[in-house]
Amino acid sequence: MQQVKYRRVLLKISGEGLCRSGGFGIDGEVLGRMAGEIKLVADLGIQLCIVVGGGNIIRGSSLAKDSPIEEVTGHYMGMLATVINALAIQDTLESFGLVTRVQSAVAVDRVCEPFTRRRALRHLEKGRVVIFAGGTGNPFVTTDSGGALRASEMQADVLLKATKVDGVYTADPMKDPTARKIDRLTYREVIDKRLAVMDVAAVELCRQNRVPIIVFNLYTPGNMRAVCEGGAIGTTIDGD
Ligand code: UDP
Repeated sequence: MQQVKYRRVLLKISGEGLCRSGGFGIDGEVLGRMAGEIKLVADLGIQLCIVVGGGNIIRGSSLAKDSPIEEVTGHYMGMLATVINALAIQDTLESFGLVTRVQSAVAVDRVCEPFTRRRALRHLEKGRVVIFAGGTGNPFVTTDSGGALRASEMQADVLLKATKVDGVYTADPMKDPTARKIDRLTYREVIDKRLAVMDVAAVELCRQNRVPIIVFNLYTPGNMRAVCEGGAIGTTIDGD
């Protein structure tokens, strides 16, 4: 194994990371770029697990606002959307030569394994990439909370929050040209200032379990690998 900073990494990818900007659904080319970045990390010998969102297909709360669908049903649909995304990531990673397993927090046992921590650990030890679907398995929360939960239970050394920008900014860099990137924040600062990084509950869970979070741009070639090698990339959220 080469010199790396982290032995076990949990990558959180939002559903929008699977489609083109402002798009919907799944885009094969975007998936391929993502898989190339993930392979660079897996090739370092790092144990890698992934939590995927579903916002490119369904977000429970917005669906309920615009339709007769009950909010709780919308959340169940959102969780199922993450299973669809996980299967897409699985086949794409396997086409890059990686061995993977999907584990879901909601029972869909014809298409993937149920989430079982010990089994997931065994997969990681064998060098398989484990893709966690179904979020937490409970409605009314997001896959960021699922990411924090799995990172904590799997004792990941870091939670890498993939975004399409380079980290956390003082304002929205897409709208404000004076926005500046912040290199380091404490969990408290993120929670108290309600910075739009991840849900408060997700950040709080990482704080309690001392899992550092790095917000970074997955679509800059080589970025995730550089993060795993200890490069000063993105925004790190840790200690109080
Ligand atoms: N969801 C849920 N419980 C979970 C995770 C997700 O009910 O533990 C639902 C929720 O409706 C959410 C949707 O699944 O809006 C898709 O997940 P998320 O919004 O986190 O996706 P992302 O923004 O990461 O693409």
